[in-house]
Amino acid sequence: MKKSELLIPAGNLEKLRTALLYGADAVYVGVGGLSLRADSAEMTIADLAAGVNEAHAKNVKVYAAANTFARNADLKQAKKIIPELAAIGVDALIISEPGMLRLMQSLAPQLPVHLSTQANTTNVEAVRFWRDQGVRRIILARELNLKEVGEIAKAVPEMDLEIFIHGAMCMAYSGRCYLSAFRNRRSANEGDCSQPCRWEYLLHESTRPSDPFIIEEDERYSYLLSSKDLCLIEYLPEILASGVTSLKIEGRMKSAYYVAVVTRTYRQALDALTRQKEKYKCKSEWIDELSKISNRGYTTGFAFAEDKINETNPEIKYIQTHEPVGIVLQYDSVKKMMLIGVRNHLAAGDEVELLLPDDTIQIDTRTLVDTNGKPVKKANNDNQIYLPLEREAPVGAVLRQRVK
Ligand code: SF4
Repeated sequence: MKKSELLIPAGNLEKLRTALLYGADAVYVGVGGLSLRADSAEMTIADLAAGVNEAHAKNVKVYAAANTFARNADLKQAKKIIPELAAIGVDALIISEPGMLRLMQSLAPQLPVHLSTQANTTNVEAVRFWRDQGVRRIILARELNLKEVGEIAKAVPEMDLEIFIHGAMCMAYSGRCYLSAFRNRRSANEGDCSQPCRWEYLLHESTRPSDPFIIEEDERYSYLLSSKDLCLIEYLPEILASGVTSLKIEGRMKSAYYVAVVTRTYRQALDALTRQKEKYKCKSEWIDELSKISNRGYTTGFAFAEDKINETNPEIKYIQTHEPVGIVLQYDSVKKMMLIGVRNHLAAGDEVELLLPDDTIQIDTRTLVDTNGKPVKKANNDNQIYLPLEREAPVGAVLRQRVK
């Protein structure tokens, strides 16, 4: 079994720091108009340079996504950014197409290349092709099952392989979809999907416009346009046995709270698997923990059988039992108080938990104190308040409460 890498999305510097705190082995980030995510999930070069330094100090790798399907006009930006990325010391660049590969090899030949899942690599010969072009790692198509992944790992053992193990899924082939572009003029292929596949649809027959067919799942039909979210936490031994190197979590657009929970949960599971080997069992508390972040119900996706790909349920909207209420900004070890940056809302007396990397503890919120030292009854998004805590809280730790 190869050593695994837990690879976490970091949409900005705060999320990168969250991933470091909760146990990522590596993070992936977007930069300057070249990644397949909207601007809100991309970092400036200055932030990325700071993030790379902090990550490397903890022996964590940073991969930069430049996986846009570059048009001619994008190449100018790519030529500017690739040498900058190499200079700040990112550990690899993720690309999707041969034009960017050629540019990388001429501008930063020393920088390892990872091939994005957007390239839809689905078979052994395709992996050999990309290996021969100098690609170091392939993020395999999400549509492969674990048996196919294992066959590729066995046939091309010199290639690093990465697969998604958690996060949102597309009904289209790895995001190659125009639904959002048609409905909202926001293109998924430019990283700006508004996720209209999650909406409810009616199918109208032209001669019976008042008798719509609701697209949903019953014994014969499925809720065609939507998908549950991927979750493979129960199958980590099978995944590692397949020969995969890197286990990737989806979600550069998602919150720091999501990053905290998925990183901590998969870290605990992978560490337990390393320690316990064949005695390892997935704990129900890890599955429970993953239900505390926003999800649409979980599925094993394509991992075991193709006939499970549309396993969806029209009753399921977004499920989330808990929501973030703050992030620790500072800890005063003399006063034994945490300074909290409030997210959403927090009221005195709310039942709040602090997520530490190895523990979850209840917080006394009977008295909220503002930055002028005055007690307050409630705090709103972006307010800063003090809360007492006897033991030291790490900066960046996340607080949450049950959704009211
Ligand atoms: S609309 Fe849905 S299927 Fe299409 S790219 Fe967006 S998330 Fe994927």
